[in-house]
Order: sequence, then C-alpha cells, then structure tokens
Amino acid sequence: MTFAELSVYLDRLESTSSRNELVKTLAELYTKSSPDEIQPLTYQIQGRLVPFFEPVEIGLGEKLVIAAIAQAFATANAEVAKLFGRLGDLGLVAAQLAGNASSSTLPVTEVHARLMDIAGAAGAGSVEKKRSLFASLLKQVDPASAKHLVRMALGRLRLGIGDPTVLDALSFAKKGDRSLRPLLEGAYNRVSDLGLIAKTFWSGGEDEVTALKITVGRPIRSQLAERLPNPEAVIRRLGLVAVQPKYDGIRVQIHKNGAAVRVFSRNLEDYTLMFSELTAAAQQLTDDTLILDGEAIAYSKELEEYLPFQLTASRRRQHGIEQAAQELPLVAFVFDILYRNGRDLTELPYEERLALVDEVIAGSTVLLPAPIIKTDSVEVLTKTLLDSISQGLEGVVVKRPDSKYQAGARNFNWVKLKRHTSGELNDTVDLVLIGYYFGKGKRADFGVGALLGGVYDADNDRFASITKLGTGLSDAEWRQIHERADQLQVDQRPARVDSILVPDVWLKPEVVVEVMADEITPSPRHTAGRVGDEPGFALRFPRIVSFRSADKRPEDATTVKEIAELFRQQRQRKQPA
Ligand code: AMP
Repeated sequence: MTFAELSVYLDRLESTSSRNELVKTLAELYTKSSPDEIQPLTYQIQGRLVPFFEPVEIGLGEKLVIAAIAQAFATANAEVAKLFGRLGDLGLVAAQLAGNASSSTLPVTEVHARLMDIAGAAGAGSVEKKRSLFASLLKQVDPASAKHLVRMALGRLRLGIGDPTVLDALSFAKKGDRSLRPLLEGAYNRVSDLGLIAKTFWSGGEDEVTALKITVGRPIRSQLAERLPNPEAVIRRLGLVAVQPKYDGIRVQIHKNGAAVRVFSRNLEDYTLMFSELTAAAQQLTDDTLILDGEAIAYSKELEEYLPFQLTASRRRQHGIEQAAQELPLVAFVFDILYRNGRDLTELPYEERLALVDEVIAGSTVLLPAPIIKTDSVEVLTKTLLDSISQGLEGVVVKRPDSKYQAGARNFNWVKLKRHTSGELNDTVDLVLIGYYFGKGKRADFGVGALLGGVYDADNDRFASITKLGTGLSDAEWRQIHERADQLQVDQRPARVDSILVPDVWLKPEVVVEVMADEITPSPRHTAGRVGDEPGFALRFPRIVSFRSADKRPEDATTVKEIAELFRQQRQRKQPA
C-alpha cells in the first residue's frame, strides 16, 4: 500500500461523523493491507510511529516544520508563516504548496521507516538533519499526503480513532462483524500494543492472538475498581475482604528486566525518567524480572504528609526533575505483583500475590507494601475507612482475597469506598470535555463560559453528554482550559461524540476532569444512558475538582454503565428497602 492510498483513507476518516462509518472505513483499509504493512499503519492512523507506551515522538515543532515546508517547496520561511497565519493549519499549508504534485508511490512502510529516522535523529546537527529528512519526504508526496505527514510530525493527527474502534475494525475486516472484539481485547489487555495485535492477527490468526503473553517491558492494562455506596453494601456483596488505604497519587506499573527498569502510568505513558526514584529503587531489588503495580505519591518531609494528587502530578514536568525529587520525593505503595522471574502471576489469588509483594520489596524505603487488614465486619471496615480519611487519604480499596488479576477489567473484585458526605454522590466522576459555550461577563475574557462534559460509552466507544460545567475552576484554570480548548476545537461534532446539545464549539474528546456533583437525575437533554425514548442521565450541581489528564485517557473516564449503577445506588439510599 502506498502512503498516498493511506492518505485517501485518512481524508475519509477525517470527514466521517458516524462511529459505525469509522469502523467500516477502517476495516476496508485493513482488508487492503498486508501483514507487513498493518503494524506501522495501525500506529500511523493514531498519529504515532510506535505503541503509546514507547516514548518515540516525531517531535517536530512548528518552527522546524515551517522550515522544512519552505525547503521542500522552495519557498521563503516568511511566506510559509504567512500562509499559516491565514490557514491556521500547517497541514493545509503544505497541501497548498505541494500544488499538483502527482500521487507518489512511496510505500506506507518506507514512510514509516523514514519518520522513525527523523524521530531518532539526536545530538549535534540533529535539528538540521530532521528538517532536511522531513523536507525530502514532503517533496516526494502528493498534497493530501503532505497534509497528513505534517500533522503527524506535529503530533496533531487526531482522527478520533480510539483503541476500541481499532479492535472493532480488525474484527470487521476478518469476520464482517464485531464478534472477535472480546478475543482481540483480551490480548490488548495483556500487551497494550495495537500494532502488535494487528500484525499477529494478520499473520497468525486468532490462535496466535490468544497466545500473546504478558511480557516485561510492555504495560498491562490496569485492573480497576468498582464502587459501592457504603461498608454494609461491601460486606453484603463481598463477605471477607482485604482492606487497603486508597492513596490519591498516580498509578504506576513498574517493570524490571535485569538492570533495565521502566515505569508506566495507567494511561500507558512512560514515566521512567520523571519518577526516577522509583526506577532507582526497583533496580536495587534482587529478582531478575518483575512487574509490580502500585500508586506513586509525593511525600512532604517538612509536613510529614502525603500530598494531594495535583502535587504528585506536578512531578511529571520534565524539567527540574532532580530538584523536584529533592523537594517532593516520591514513594510507591505497591499493592500487586503480576510477574516474577519469567512467571505470570495474574492467576494467583490476591492474598498470595500480596505475600509475594512483601517478599520482593522487603527492605526498600521507596517501594513500600500497601498495608491490608482482613475483615468481614461492617464495624471494622467502617473504622478503617474513617481512619484512612482522617489521615488525609481518599478512602479505602477493598479487594477479594481470592481474586485473580484481571487486566483491564473493572469489577467487584476491587471496590473503592470514599467519604460519604450527605447529599452528595459518594464519589467523584471523571468527565471528558466535549464542547464549550461562550461566556458572558468576566468569564468571557477567558473565551469559555460553560463546558460540556461527557462520560464514556465503552460498548460503543463513544462519549455521551451528561452535564454542563461552570463552577469549581480558578481564573488561572479557566485560562488553562481556554488554551487547551484552542488546540482541541473542531468544526463539526467529532464522530465519537454523542450529544443532543450543540455547544458553541466542539472539542476533540481529550481533556479529563474530575467532578463532584450532588446527584444524578434523569434528563431528556443528555445522551448518557439514553435508550430509545428513555431519558439519559444528568449531573446536578457539578463542580470541577481537578484536572485528570495527567493520569487518565478519555477512555478512562467514568462509563455510562458506572453512572447507571451510581444512579441505582442513589435511589436505594433515598428509599431504603
Ligand atoms: P479511581 O481512579 O477513583 O477509579 O480509583 C482507582 C484508582 O485508585 C486506581 O487506579 C489506583 O490508581 C488508585 N489506588 C490508590 N490506592 C489503591 C489501592 N490500595 N489499591 C488499588 N488502587 C489504588
């Protein structure tokens, strides 16, 4: 397949406003690709060269791309910059300057290899090299390809193709329906690499996909927690439980392979450098290969206190890592082990895994075992929850002692319990921003008046509206939202967004915010949970508590199913049986 052919598909995907069409178009593209092509192509449609957890970015800034376009089309930098000012998108600038360059025969695989060379250029003279390599690539392609290449290079090719859409399309391409999605998703939960799955599926079929194993160095999709309203409900449903503090930090999966250690976040990013103390601590462990799961949290020596999420998240900033490590050292509470010395441990009962955690990290002062107590008593659980809250923690996570680790699953093997303030939902929800309304008065200065928030409809890989959001942000945060929104705004409703309300500006669903609300109410205005003529759900008195994009992808937002369950629990609380 040539890159020009791929570009025709990228154009089609870009103009699609229906999710079913996205899946079908992508499936058609897949049926035309060979096992060699399908891996690079799968990364490229998501604007990448490698899976999300590999920190390889083409990483050309606007200035460099302007210079490369100028070089490719023998135009002055100033002329390119002027066109950019007019068109607002360097991709369109490149397409215009490419004029009527005829369709080229560069294969997808070669373009991928050449973009990898650009990404890999480092050291003295690398800026020049990147510019020249990119310019020579642009010179060889047709206008549509130039447009998409430029967007990829800038990290702005966002067609809104989520991972579940890729999995559905793979299934469609082979079977004509979605029936293979569970098998493909199972493999995805173990390896987190869509390109690898696509290639394996194309060359080895279903059996080889099923045989894809957990491996050190590739993150596993995190096991997630369900909610229950109170300790009574927990004991009624789970019986004997292991209770742990719930730390409000950042989920980390630590992979050790000899001296090589990598740290991944829950949204599959590589945090190895940013959380250098954890890396160093894992290198000290005696086992050869390990995968540990836990929560990293910043600790203030002066206050002798664990710090809230936002401060832990501030450690993510690349610069000043060493100074930050001094001022806000991190520890990680390790609450699981998934792999040790070549052995997959995910099938072992939780209690046995936790005993191994104690053994493996014994003696470390940075990797600490998350304490547990076991109980089947409502009183003991209530007391432990209150203890945790009084120590400034979020609450507790309760786990079934005999449960295995189910990658990517959210079920009642793990249940989170947080403070219950009367009149409020007993937990926050994570929403994705899907649009905004222009403001009046003071807020108009920031360009945003109210936000439209959505939840994730996991079955259909869509974002359904649930509430407008207006309060909870400081002036600085409104400004921050405005800056992000400028980069995310799109002309039409994105294909994966489902909303009856039409905001002034649609946003690509990317920013995740944590929201507290008083209650969930039925609402005909929102699409979250709407079935046929039945109304959807809305949030009453929502307020933003924090920005969560640091550790959550849009697909990690609260799901429609969770909202329906929270609504059910809320109704039960109001009308005790
Ligand atoms: P939430 O993000 O509110 O859905 O809560 C689930 C998150 O709590 C997990 O993804 C972890 O990042 C975090 N967490 C904190 N402490 C624990 C613990 N002891 N066990 C499991 N998860 C924990």
